[in-house]
Amino acid sequence: MAKKQFKAESKRLLEMMINSIYTQREIFLRELISNASDAIDKIYYKALTDDNLTFNKEDYYVKITADKASRTLTITDTGIGMTKEDLENNLGVIAKSGSLAFKSENEAKDGHNIIGQFGVGFYSAFMVADVVTVTSRALGSDEAFKWESEGAEGYTLTPAEKESIGTEIVLKIKENTEDDQYDEYLEEYRLRAIVKKYSDFIRYPIKMDVKTQRPKEDAENEFEEVQEEQTINSMVPIWRKNKGELTDADYENFYNEKRYGFDKPLKHIHVKADGAVVYNAILFIPENTPFDYYTKEYEKGLELYSNGVLIMDKCGDLLPDYFSFVKGMVDSEDLSLNISREMLQHDRQLTLIAKNIKNKVKGALQSMLKDERENYEKFFESFGRGLKFGVYNDYGMNKEDLQDLLLFTSSQEKKLVSLDEYVSRMPEDQKYIYYASGDSIDRIEKLPQTEMVLDKGYEILYFTDDVDEFAIKMLMKYKEKEFKSVSSGDLGIDSEADKQENEAEESDNKELFEAMGGLLAGKVKSVKASKRLKSHPVCLSTEGDVSIEMEKILKAMPN
Ligand code: ADP
Ligand code: MG
Repeated sequence: MAKKQFKAESKRLLEMMINSIYTQREIFLRELISNASDAIDKIYYKALTDDNLTFNKEDYYVKITADKASRTLTITDTGIGMTKEDLENNLGVIAKSGSLAFKSENEAKDGHNIIGQFGVGFYSAFMVADVVTVTSRALGSDEAFKWESEGAEGYTLTPAEKESIGTEIVLKIKENTEDDQYDEYLEEYRLRAIVKKYSDFIRYPIKMDVKTQRPKEDAENEFEEVQEEQTINSMVPIWRKNKGELTDADYENFYNEKRYGFDKPLKHIHVKADGAVVYNAILFIPENTPFDYYTKEYEKGLELYSNGVLIMDKCGDLLPDYFSFVKGMVDSEDLSLNISREMLQHDRQLTLIAKNIKNKVKGALQSMLKDERENYEKFFESFGRGLKFGVYNDYGMNKEDLQDLLLFTSSQEKKLVSLDEYVSRMPEDQKYIYYASGDSIDRIEKLPQTEMVLDKGYEILYFTDDVDEFAIKMLMKYKEKEFKSVSSGDLGIDSEADKQENEAEESDNKELFEAMGGLLAGKVKSVKASKRLKSHPVCLSTEGDVSIEMEKILKAMPN
C-alpha cells in the first residue's frame, strides 16, 4: 500500500504540533469530542434549510468505548462524516479546518456553536496514541473510507465498510514507559473525569458503557456488576438557563459540584451580558477564607469556557487582585483563542469582560452591604483585609472602587461602620474623620488621646489591622472629610480660646518644658502643654503624616 507523504516541513510541523502545543495530554479527548460535536452541529445546520433532512435529537450522540485488552479507545459520532476528499483535505492537511470553512459558508445560518477553527486539534490524538484510525461515511454517501496514520510519517487512505453515517476514531493507546503513563486513558473513571472537566456542556450526549453495581434480583444484600450505557455530560450548562428557572439551591449545587469551595456561598451573581461583549457568567462570593488565601500560593481566577468547552481552569486576568476571592466561571462565544486553545490572546474582549465583571462584583457587594448587612459583615470578616490592601496597592488607583466597601470598628458600640455611615452621622461642627490605631480595641480605648475626642461626642474608627492606616493614607479623604489620627498634634477640636490658653501656658512654663525636653532628648522632639488630657497626666503625639502605630509597622518591615 503506497503511503502518501507529508512534505518535509509539514513533518516537522506535525511533530511540533503533537509534542509542544499542549501542556496537558488529557485534552486530546476534549479535541476529539469537540470535533464530534461540530460534526453533529453541521447536520443540525443543514437540516435547518434542507427539507429532506430531519434532525431527531435522539439520533445524535458521541460514544466513547475503552478496551483494555486491545488497548484501544474508540470515539464514535453520528455526525456529518467525511468523504474521501474531506479526509484528505482536513486530516491530511495540517492547519486546515473544515469547520472554519463551514462556519464562513454558513454565516447567515448562525454557525457560531461550531468549535473548530485552527485545524490542529485532531493531531493531539498522537500525544496518547501510536496509531490513529479514522473510519468515516459522509452524509449522502454510500461509501466509507479509512484514514490511518502513525503520526509524522504519513497516512494511508483506503475504502472501508461502515453501516451508518458518521465517524469512528480508534486510538491505539501507547504503552506505559518509565516516564509516561498512558494506561489511564483506558480507565473508565479517568475518561469520565476528563469528559466532565472539559466537555460537560457539549450539547449532545456523550455516552459511555459504565460498570455499575446493581442489587441482585433474587438475593437480598447482594450486588452484581452490570454494564450500562450512560450519558456522562450534563449538556445544558446552568449558565445558559434563565435565571427565573433557577433556585438558590441550584446555584449552591453548582458551587459544590465545581468544588469552588466547601462552604456555602454568601451570594451568587448570574450575568447574561448581551452588549458590546457577549458572555454568560456565574460568580460566587464565598463565606469562608480559603486556607491559603493570604499566602503567595493562592491563585485567583475564574474558569473560562469558550462555547461551553473549558479553556482555562483559572483565568487570572478576569479578576482584579482585590476581588481575588470571587469564584465561578465565564463562558463566551467570541474570545480569540490561541492555537492550543489553552490561552487567550490578550485582547479587547477579555479586557471588556474583566471590567464588566469587576463592576458586577462591586455592585453586588454594595447591595449586600445595604440589604444583607449580616452577610456582608461575614464576608468582610473573611475578605475585608484584602479589600484594604486593594486600596493601598497600586498607589490608590482603585480607591474609587473600594472605599464604599470598607468597614471599620467604631467607638459607637464597637460595631462595624462604613465610611458613608460614619460621615452621614457626623455632628455639624466635626471637621475630620477620627481614627485611633492600636493592637486591640481594649488598648485603643485606654489611649489618653481617645478620651478627648469621644468627650466631644465624636465617633472614632478603631484600627486594629496593620493595613488599616495605610489604606486610609491612600484615601486621604472621604466625601471631602480628611482623616485624622487622634494622636496627631492638632486634633482640630480646640477653640480659639483653648489655643490661646495653651500658648499662655506654654510661655509661662517655657523653662520647665525645655528642661523636660532636654531630659528626653533623642526620644521626643519637644514637650508641650496639652488641653486634651483628662484622666491621664501625659500622652505621646505625632506631627506630620505618620502615626506612632504606623512608625512601628514601618520599622518592623523588612527593607
Ligand atoms: P478544527 O476542529 O479546529 O477545525 P481539527 O484538527 O480538530 O481542527 O479537525 C480538522 C478538520 O477535520 C475539522 O475542521 C473537520 O472538518 C474535520 N473533522 C475532524 N473530526 C471530524 C469528525 N469527527 N467528523 C467530521 N469531520 C471531522
Ligand atoms: Mg477540532
